[in-house]
Amino acid sequence: MSPVPIGILGGTFDPIHNGHLRLAQEALEQCSLGVIRFVPGGTPPHRNTPRASAEQRLDMVRLALHGNQSFELDDREIFRIDPCYTVDTLSALRAELGAMQPLCLLMGGDAFLTLDSWHQWKQLFELSHIVVVQRGGQPLGNAVNGASVPLREEYQARLALAPRILHESPAGAVLVVDMPVLEISATDIRKRCAERRSIRYLVPDSVADYIKFHHFYT
Ligand code: ATP
Repeated sequence: MSPVPIGILGGTFDPIHNGHLRLAQEALEQCSLGVIRFVPGGTPPHRNTPRASAEQRLDMVRLALHGNQSFELDDREIFRIDPCYTVDTLSALRAELGAMQPLCLLMGGDAFLTLDSWHQWKQLFELSHIVVVQRGGQPLGNAVNGASVPLREEYQARLALAPRILHESPAGAVLVVDMPVLEISATDIRKRCAERRSIRYLVPDSVADYIKFHHFYT
């Protein structure tokens, strides 16, 4: 029997919020994953420098995951000073966990539509499955029709109809799962903090308290 699939959720987590946590919970349940590893990024290759420091982002992820046995923190990327690509992280995990371990890279539909701009993006399918969490029943297929031809082809060739495939092979499938829309983004949370507005119920209370105590994003 194959080992139980592991989910991997990368992000800047500046800060982590309930949208990230709900995405992970939906994937965990709908795909019967064993655990989800949260991997906060270091210097994101595509994005601006995070506002909170690496230690602060780690603290917030640690607080947010506290008490959930199925969620784990993986800090392998965050202290790297060179650009750290998802393909490197997945290669390292594959080397550690063995060829038979199913890995599932989790992401929102917005992230999936940019996949063809990621470093060595086709290699990701050799290393992992991709579980795309689409929000509010907006069919991902429609959006993929407007994506680049190579991304569309990979999507169509790899699309799985049931989570079973994640348990039967270590990598290579794309599975789409649904979640309710939570209109939450780290950008919006930082903006609310800057405007001295509440971020309660958008992030776990422990994270809101930490942000307030340290006067982040103000
Ligand atoms: P920012 O606003 O700074 O760009 P973000 O809130 O979008 O940050 P990221 O770290 O960029 O967070 O996202 C990590 C992953 O979480 C991505 O795959 C993204 O699609 C997903 N995600 C972010 N916000 C939500 C949400 N509200 N619901 C579901 N998935 C989300």
